[in-house]
Amino acid sequence: MQSALFNRQPNDKPYLISGPCSAETEEQVLDTCQRLAATGKVQALRAGIWKPRTKPGGFEGVGTKGLPWLKKASELTGLPIAVEVATAKHVEDCLAFGVDILWVGARTTGNPFSVQEIANVLRGVQVPVLVKNPIHPELELWVGAVERLQKAGLEKVGLIHRGFSSYGNTDYRNAPMWHLPIEMKRRHPDMPLLCDPSHICGRRDTLFTVAQQALNLGFDGNMIESHQDPDAAWSDAKQQITPEVLKDLIQALVWRHETTDQREFLTALASLREQINQLDAEIIQLLGRRMAVAEKIGEYKKENDITILQTARWNEVLERAQRQGNSVGLTPEFVEQYFAAVHLESINHQNSVMNR
Ligand code: PEP
Ligand code: MN
Repeated sequence: MQSALFNRQPNDKPYLISGPCSAETEEQVLDTCQRLAATGKVQALRAGIWKPRTKPGGFEGVGTKGLPWLKKASELTGLPIAVEVATAKHVEDCLAFGVDILWVGARTTGNPFSVQEIANVLRGVQVPVLVKNPIHPELELWVGAVERLQKAGLEKVGLIHRGFSSYGNTDYRNAPMWHLPIEMKRRHPDMPLLCDPSHICGRRDTLFTVAQQALNLGFDGNMIESHQDPDAAWSDAKQQITPEVLKDLIQALVWRHETTDQREFLTALASLREQINQLDAEIIQLLGRRMAVAEKIGEYKKENDITILQTARWNEVLERAQRQGNSVGLTPEFVEQYFAAVHLESINHQNSVMNR
């Protein structure tokens, strides 16, 4: 079955792949998929057949016996089906059952041996393959996986942004780090790019915002997990929604029919804003480090009974900053205001050291 994800026209509506995280039973697959088809919003069905689990003993997917269930769902709904593959055997089984779209999961993308194994078995076959970003924020691994598949002769290779694991992040299951898919889109402007809000969010209440942001950034659509009874799902229960909730979510998404020019404009704007976000994040990190050094100085001052405020030193810092600021186009007023705030914050940090 043809999927309309490739060769998209500028005014095509966003593509949506949906289905359960995992195929669990025939009844669950058929009920979920038929309800999804009834929404009229879904262009392809998904279900995990083999589930990569961090530790053994969890639900590792129903395996090959789930493929006929998906095939039946496809026949009943007229929709193409998508399945995650991680080994040559998975690919062979999927091809034997006529799976329309394959995708490479995040854990697999990060492993060049596995990607090569998949690429080798796909040599000479024309089936669309979507490559999820690797778990870690390393763009080159994502690029490399795409190249391995293309080198095997695959012409329909697409991308799925599913977020990146990051230390200390609490808002998302996988932080979106939008600058990375944006850079990927810059390098592969004609490659379909979908967002996977389910695995980015890990919860239901933020799915809409992420799905909308993806459309705002000119993504071609979304992959969102849906389950007949989300709370009872055997995997990823917290992030799944019913087909009916999904319909409301999709209906609420704002999607402007863009001309090609507008799309370029939005991508350019998004790219620049992501650069700003990145730079701001770096500035914040640097300020944090600066405060840590100031606290160390505070400890020495405390040990040696020296006052926190050293006027000569402060003048020296400010003068140097104004000279440097001038050379990159910053006004002396701005530099003074900015450094006054930074200096005050340093004093406060040193004060708390003194009061310990
Ligand atoms: C999935 O889509 O079910 C999945 C396992 O996703 P990821 O590879 O992004 O973790
Ligand atoms: Mn999942």
